[in-house]
Amino acid sequence: MPDQATHIKVAALTGAALHFINRAATHDPLNPKPFNWGDFLLDVGACTLGGIAADVGEPADTPNHRGFYHSVAGAALAHYAWTKLRGENLSPEAKHLLGVLLAGHVTHLVLDSGTPNGLPLI
Ligand SMILES: [Zn+2]
Repeated sequence: MPDQATHIKVAALTGAALHFINRAATHDPLNPKPFNWGDFLLDVGACTLGGIAADVGEPADTPNHRGFYHSVAGAALAHYAWTKLRGENLSPEAKHLLGVLLAGHVTHLVLDSGTPNGLPLI
């Protein structure tokens, strides 16, 4: 099973990649924005937090620690909540951060799904 250091590294790298993808997608050549280290670190931090959150709720003491936070149903519910929150009156930055947080959670599930125990459905 991937250890916490692996979850942190993969989620942090995913957060960094998402930052640059979002930056490229929102780039305006007529009005280029300078690189903002605060935004970058916020994306890396939010994704890392999402990447370790499942093991905070269900500590990885044994390979059989996986409950709802580690399940396909839990991921589907988190995705559903995210899509609902995107429709709410939140700032674009808050919506972006929620998406990055969810992406971190997904990295955790993807890593755990590659183990012999996989992910439970519920
Ligand atoms: Zn886990």
